[in-house]
Amino acid sequence: MDINIRFWSKVDKSGECWVWTAGRTAAGYGMFHSNTSRAHLAHRYAFELANGPIPTGMHVRHTCDNPPCVRIDHLVIGTHADNMRDMSERKRAATGDRHGMRLHPDRRATGDKHGSHTHPESRHAATRSHDRETSQTAEATCSLSLSDNHHPTGMDT
Ligand SMILES: [Zn+2]
Repeated sequence: MDINIRFWSKVDKSGECWVWTAGRTAAGYGMFHSNTSRAHLAHRYAFELANGPIPTGMHVRHTCDNPPCVRIDHLVIGTHADNMRDMSERKRAATGDRHGMRLHPDRRATGDKHGSHTHPESRHAATRSHDRETSQTAEATCSLSLSDNHHPTGMDT
């Protein structure tokens, strides 16, 4: 089966967030096993399906703070330094473009409001910073476990 079809067949698109329905990591991130039997974090895989390979060292984060969500509109790419800067300044749009690798998938949903306070993430601002910190730690932990164990959760079918 085509890898794209197989991937999206595991996703529930009935809600605002597109939720991964197959195996998950302990932190709640979706786990996808590609044809090579390599384990991938589902949200990162979804991002790469849409935008191409994630540059080394870059993070894919959720604007919705929902770890199993794989909706492209809810995923943004950034560096660890970006994350830190976000948390302290919340001015990502103002500083990000000089990297030349920001893909702004969230623009598609809302039109380009670049640099304005109408960024779609703002409605989540109340809960965002706490969950983000948790998620980031979880993702780092998960990446480590993925590299030496193809079935860290034992939940894959
Ligand atoms: Zn979402």
